[in-house]
Amino acid sequence: MSKMMDTYARQPVTFEKGQGVWLWAKDGKKYLDALSGVAVNGLGHTHPKLIKAISEQISRLIHVSNVYHIAEQEKLAEKLTAISGMDNVFFCNSGCEANEAAIKLARLYGHQNGIDTPEIIVMEKAFHGRTMATLSATGNRKTQAGFEPLVGGFIRVAFDDLEAIQQIASRKNNVVAILVEPIQGEGGINIPNNIQNYLKGLRDICDQHNWLLMLDEVQGGIGRTGKWFVHQHSSIKPDVMTLAKGLGSGVPIGACLAKGKASHVFTPGKHGSTFGGNPLATAAGYATLNIIEEDKLCNHALKMGTLINEEFTKQLKDCPQVKVVRNLGLMIGIEFDQPCGELTKLALDEGLLINVTAEKVIRLLPPLIIKEEEVLELVERLSKVIKFFLAK
Ligand SMILES: *Cc1c(COP(=O)(O)O)cnc(C)c1O
Repeated sequence: MSKMMDTYARQPVTFEKGQGVWLWAKDGKKYLDALSGVAVNGLGHTHPKLIKAISEQISRLIHVSNVYHIAEQEKLAEKLTAISGMDNVFFCNSGCEANEAAIKLARLYGHQNGIDTPEIIVMEKAFHGRTMATLSATGNRKTQAGFEPLVGGFIRVAFDDLEAIQQIASRKNNVVAILVEPIQGEGGINIPNNIQNYLKGLRDICDQHNWLLMLDEVQGGIGRTGKWFVHQHSSIKPDVMTLAKGLGSGVPIGACLAKGKASHVFTPGKHGSTFGGNPLATAAGYATLNIIEEDKLCNHALKMGTLINEEFTKQLKDCPQVKVVRNLGLMIGIEFDQPCGELTKLALDEGLLINVTAEKVIRLLPPLIIKEEEVLELVERLSKVIKFFLAK
């Protein structure tokens, strides 16, 4: 019996080493990693430049407290604000913590503006994490069931529905923010019908009512969709943006960025984290951003995403059970007209790591460094698995 708490339904495999998009199990079998530790290993496994940067940092300093100035943190904050146009950043250790910071920031912003019972608009099918506040903000009953009473102060509306938000604006005067993933990840790779219009619409409503627009870019951020951040496919900027997954290439780090009026809400004593932004994590983040820039991985992700979509659309055109292949860069969803959870194990048997989310959607989040021939290998292996599954 494992001594681990039973929180995961794990696949029957243990990995020993990795290189690029490839992982090797203990028995020597080789796997193509099309999940990247759920959007974490954007640089693939054991990227030489990342190893060098982290090794150098470890040999100098791993951790000091946030009661001191931390040079590595300042450097990453400079870089993150430069590429995003945001004003400042709070560092933590994960996506849920980044969202926790955003939720606290929004509530504090409300109180500072005379709103004693601030509420935040969140979306159906959203995923924001598993702490009490973030699971309450999440739009999936499975994540919440058994943990009631939930944290209050969230109002839920349908994703990609500006009208629903307008209606709330017309009847409520205690809303302080909208928290939304510009593309929903766990919810099934849900891409707004017109991402520019949706984000612009959200921006306009927030401006009209003095609400904060808070974008959860934990999954889509850091180059994955072909831009540094998903919202950069539009012309707007958020007031708050949260990051985590791809930021540290596997070294745990989260970030909550703020701009304008949102950037001076927190004052000393209002929030903090022991590990948040420590020298090791922020050196990993800084190296990750520099490698993505040097190796032009945003553009590459955009190209590879288009290729993946084209190839799957070709391969699966005779499968009526496949409703649609959708992507923005390397956030890819293949939606079925039926539950397809079994595919994860069938793909594993074929040496391929994928994920099924929202019951009917294959989710692919391959490393940004994936090469053209590896894309073709991925499409060939997965199409074979899908056709086998559908013929059963
Ligand atoms: C994964 C994820 C989170 C939670 O991140 P953790 O690091 O697991 O806490 C939050 N928001 C989104 C959009 C995510 O994909």
